[in-house]
Amino acid sequence: MPDIPSAPAVELRDVHKFYNEFHALRGVSLSIAKGEVCVAIGPSGSGKSTLLRCINQLEIITAGRIFLEGELQGYREIDGRFHPLPQSQVARQRRRTGMVFQRFNLFPHMTALENVVEGPIHVRGIPKAQARERAVALLDRVGLRGLGARYPNQLSGGQQQRVAIARALAMEPEVMLFDEPTSALDPELVGEVLDVIKDLAESGMTMMLVTHEIGFAREVADDLVFMDCGLIVEQGRPQDILSNPQEARTRAFLSKVLV
Ligand code: ADP
Repeated sequence: MPDIPSAPAVELRDVHKFYNEFHALRGVSLSIAKGEVCVAIGPSGSGKSTLLRCINQLEIITAGRIFLEGELQGYREIDGRFHPLPQSQVARQRRRTGMVFQRFNLFPHMTALENVVEGPIHVRGIPKAQARERAVALLDRVGLRGLGARYPNQLSGGQQQRVAIARALAMEPEVMLFDEPTSALDPELVGEVLDVIKDLAESGMTMMLVTHEIGFAREVADDLVFMDCGLIVEQGRPQDILSNPQEARTRAFLSKVLV
């Protein structure tokens, strides 16, 4: 059998995003292999969150292409022309990526367990008993055993974020996207969330993470991307970029955050 290289888990080709007149992504190309952890760092407003939101199709790209395992996202191409996919197809594609936000976004009127089973039951049509069993196991996995009956306001920020991670995992995504998952947390709660993310990374989950935690980026990233003004300025192994940045903009950014 010939060895056919598999498509990357995530591939962006010359992606542009405008918000009205504002050019937020200015031609981003990026490839994430299956099982790889890609971490994006960079100043506020550089387009990191927009990039994740485009991969998750929360934002519609203005130009370029995004593929998940070789499947074009959001569009189909017929005779060189792009036609937007119907909503049902977009919804199916969106389920391939799980997103975790800075501000947890849990349903406040549901318990932790209900938050985790909601998607599997109502979106994926999984039988209730099976969804609950899996949710209990997922809450256990993120270190929240026995806390499934609590409402979000009865949990700490770190616990809420771990529920949000369990909720995303319950949909069995192929890729996890984390948008500054610890930046809304009190400092003493950051570690418990990073531990869960690290554990996921070690389990072989493909992921892209936007973070200001440079030490953590060094630890978990296979590939580190530095963004500025809607562009990837520098990319490579974290130890290379962090210890020996080649670009002036990367050096300037790191000199501010690595104090
Ligand atoms: P980062 O995650 O690096 O902080 P963002 O992707 O959030 O950057 O934002 C990139 C730029 O796009 C910023 O200048 C921001 O103000 C702008 N932007 C983000 N979302 C919107 C939006 N919905 N409408 C208009 N401008 C936006």
